[in-house]
Amino acid sequence: MERTLSIIKPDGVEKNIIGEICKRFEAGGLRIVASRMMHLPAERVGEFYAVHRERPFYADLVGYMSSGPVLVQVLEGENAIARNREIMGATDPADADPGTIRADFAASIDANVVHGSDGPETAAQEIGFFFGDNGVCPRTR
Ligand code: ATP
Ligand code: MG
Repeated sequence: MERTLSIIKPDGVEKNIIGEICKRFEAGGLRIVASRMMHLPAERVGEFYAVHRERPFYADLVGYMSSGPVLVQVLEGENAIARNREIMGATDPADADPGTIRADFAASIDANVVHGSDGPETAAQEIGFFFGDNGVCPRTR
């Protein structure tokens, strides 16, 4: 059993496709164990994406992710990290497989609807960043 951090980005929230996206997570074998809507200030987004600080798109990424509310969630399941990335599709929607969230809903590489952790270490760090030590609710049923 593995956990991963998912974010429905401002464009996904604006498009009002939260239910559609969550349905795909659930149909893909993932369970939601934490969920919170928040409008992140730029400083907080900057911290979250600190690994990309030197990249040319960093300022745009921070501006975009702080432009509106996002839904931050923890998903749990077998191979949850890879599974979530399969369901999301490639970063650039032009490269995303048909039937993935990004192929179906993303407008561009900047506005690509969802975020998912990219490995076990980043998943643990990102889950802690938003939900601390006890913000995740075990699915006892
Ligand atoms: P995410 O981390 O959001 O799940 P990812 O892991 O597929 O996406 P990263 O390489 O971590 O991709 O990039 C983080 C985000 O930065 C991307 O989701 C995208 O919005 C933006 N981004 C990445 N590469 C580019 C680029 N070349 N031009 C513009 N934006 C980019
Ligand atoms: Mg990433």
